Amino acid sequence: MNRDRLYINGRWVAPSSDETIAVENPATEEILGHVPAGTAGDVDRAVAAARAAFDGWAATSMAERGAVLGKLHEALAARAADIARTVGLELGTPLKIAQAVQAGLPLAVLRGYADLAAQPVREETIGNSLVVREPVGVVGAITPWNYPLHQIVAKVAAALAAGCTVVLKPSELTPLTAYLLFDAAEEAGLPAGVLNLVPGTGAVVGAAIAGHPDVDMVSFTGSTATGRAISHAAADRIARVALELGGKSANVILEDADVTKAVRVGVGNAFLNSGQTCTAWTRMLVHRSHYDAAVELAASAAESFRTGDPFDEATRLGPLVSAAQRERVRGFIERADARIVAGAAPVPEKGYFVAPTVFADVDPHSELAQEEIFGPVLSIIAFDDDDHAVRIANDSRYGLAGGVWGSQERALAVARRMRTGAVDVNGGAFNPLAPFGGYKQSGIGRELGVHGLGEFQQTKAIQQ
Ligand code: NAD
Repeated sequence: MNRDRLYINGRWVAPSSDETIAVENPATEEILGHVPAGTAGDVDRAVAAARAAFDGWAATSMAERGAVLGKLHEALAARAADIARTVGLELGTPLKIAQAVQAGLPLAVLRGYADLAAQPVREETIGNSLVVREPVGVVGAITPWNYPLHQIVAKVAAALAAGCTVVLKPSELTPLTAYLLFDAAEEAGLPAGVLNLVPGTGAVVGAAIAGHPDVDMVSFTGSTATGRAISHAAADRIARVALELGGKSANVILEDADVTKAVRVGVGNAFLNSGQTCTAWTRMLVHRSHYDAAVELAASAAESFRTGDPFDEATRLGPLVSAAQRERVRGFIERADARIVAGAAPVPEKGYFVAPTVFADVDPHSELAQEEIFGPVLSIIAFDDDDHAVRIANDSRYGLAGGVWGSQERALAVARRMRTGAVDVNGGAFNPLAPFGGYKQSGIGRELGVHGLGEFQQTKAIQQ
């Protein structure tokens, strides 16, 4: 699965250095292949290509750009099976979930932007002003490994629809999936320079993008610590940043909830993608009257998760992405000062597996309840009434997502009080057209749908 080129100015080109990055299969610990370790010089070339392409691309109509995105969607959809397989190999997502989420979701998002761009452009009149929307410029996109294609497409599709040009640096842990998007881009005939790929490390390629004087906006998804570093780098030139960062989301199970369903769905949510999901409901808050039952249900639901080979149909929990990630998660489990009620299920010896783990009686102020663990670890906390639940839910420096279960009106009232960018009431389905993003240290800005498009636009007031 070796790839040895960068994609710059509509062509596969040689990198400026011989250095490569090995891509590992976390389920087998085998090396799948290598990709180039890009350099700051490669970023310069890619940004120059994006800059040169910008005026022409920005001058096309939204509908023309939508048609290009439609072709890209077609070329990418033809690769759906390959995408799911590649994510299964380099990240370890179980195949069925990879097909639905890792391949299906980005395809839906891309289709959504192609359709959105085909709609009549909305212009606003305010008194004697015509308010128009224009693309921000050259966008540097830096993405993580946990939903490798979705996180790329959420940025790239919106930026391209808005009329921006893009330089992408995917995560060094999952670059092979990104290459499939560029194969599709080439086949779809994207104009040269509109979309460019420079793989490499965060310290070299990511930092070069974040600090590049000709990058007008940095759109980043990843950890809060890296988001902070990127903000600092962009601040020097007042470049726009959009940040999608970490989370520690609460799943609130009220007194009048369907507890069995709430716990079952809640455990599934917390463990999706081995818990490596920024929106994962990692804190389960349960009304004291249901607490003991919920703990028992959650423990048995967790124990029933089959851990193992992502390509085995029966597997629900794959490995963590890397040895480092596994050690980090193990550290949280070892330091935890709470009652462990699940965590002894067998896991394969080879590969970076962690057994699905549930802690009860978790102190809301403890490390377990406050830090983003990014592994299959669920914390359960009791509350006394709705006010108490809201206080615990909001007692976090993060504010990305959450869930509430209970009678509709009461659950909705609690959802409105939660300081997060999204809340699902009684298992409301993920909506890829709804705005996605965080309050507090979970980020700045929104992705997806029309709100995501707006992130890549400037407004201009023309008085007449
Ligand atoms: P990370 O911050 O380590 O890396 C993300 C990307 O940033 C990678 O491409 C990396 O190479 C790059 N990077 C690292 N250091 C950099 C630097 N100094 N300058 C520029 N770029 C740099 O995060 P990760 O470990 O890949 O991803 C996991 C994190 O992402 C979790 O915290 C998770 O919550 C978060 N996440 C957030 C969302 C969201 O939408 N809010 C979605 C998915 C993941």
